[in-house]
Amino acid sequence: MLAYAAPTTVEEAVRALAGASGVAKVLSGGTDLLVQLRSGRARPDLIVDIKKIPDMSGVRERDGAFVIGASTPGAVIGECEALRQAWPGVVEAANLIGSTQIQGRATLAGNLCNASPAADSVPALIAARAICVVAGANGQREVPVESIVTGPGRTSLGRDEFIIAFHLPKRPSRSADAYLRFIPRTEMDIAVVGAAVSVTLDPGGVCSDARVVLGAVAPTALLVADAAAALIGRALDATALDGLDQAARRACKPIDDKRGTIEYRIKVAGVMARRAATIAYERAGKRQ
Ligand SMILES: Cc1cc2nc3c(=O)[nH]c(=O)nc-3n(C[C@H](O)[C@H](O)[C@H](O)COP(=O)(O)OP(=O)(O)OC[C@H]3O[C@@H](n4cnc5c(N)ncnc54)[C@H](O)[C@@H]3O)c2cc1C
Repeated sequence: MLAYAAPTTVEEAVRALAGASGVAKVLSGGTDLLVQLRSGRARPDLIVDIKKIPDMSGVRERDGAFVIGASTPGAVIGECEALRQAWPGVVEAANLIGSTQIQGRATLAGNLCNASPAADSVPALIAARAICVVAGANGQREVPVESIVTGPGRTSLGRDEFIIAFHLPKRPSRSADAYLRFIPRTEMDIAVVGAAVSVTLDPGGVCSDARVVLGAVAPTALLVADAAAALIGRALDATALDGLDQAARRACKPIDDKRGTIEYRIKVAGVMARRAATIAYERAGKRQ
């Protein structure tokens, strides 16, 4: 029989996960988990609902950096003006998930830990150098977002562990991010390709720091160092964009499916990376 626990502290939640006999699943918004329960794809013995733990939901700003509680739904993330100003790419990625109804529930932690290669918020979080705060029986640890997903449906979290928050660093001036995805329909579909770019510019408009991350073109989101290297040290000229495009294409290891062939996905990855970089540069130029 499926058991349900709704702890009110992090410690209680960790005890419930650690003490579970059989498979335990954390419940955040439930927009992936409940679908999987109904279809029989997930058959846990225990569900640990973390939404009753105080401070698990909400966005807090601390000296220009941000803490996003693990249970914060996309709708709340989108309403935080300071976060939208500092990390527009992260917010637009979070707000692309599903519909208005889904936005009322879906969280960044669920999007990450469901471990879909096409998860929209993951490339943007990695481009932002976001850090997860993970709670477990041995206390808390900080883990870069890119170290959480190990393959489709798999994470590096221990059975007693769950994410309690995300940290987004303080933005330097002249820096911004952008996330774009390509889907066959206008909404409510899974990314054929997602691209997140975060850049910092010097006063002359030359890129001094960049992160480029692709989604849906490999088993996990790809942090493409060569694509970032094509941008760093240059203004956004044709050479930089061509180098970015080629590096993005080289990194892809996509699958063929009904949404797109391997060749198509590889080509679209270059195009999405170019477009996301152009938006990130434009935004960065406006942020003093
Ligand atoms: C109609 C519909 C449209 C969708 N559209 C999109 C879309 O456009 N883009 C997209 O990326 N996704 C989409 N999704 C998938 C889903 O909405 C997202 O992945 C969402 O962000 C999941 O968050 P959640 O809080 O609902 O996760 P849940 O369903 O609560 O959990 C998902 C998984 O993560 C684990 N988990 C949850 N919270 C934690 C935590 N704090 N620590 C550790 N593990 C945790 C759960 O155990 C479970 O395995 C869609 C889903 C539906 C039903």
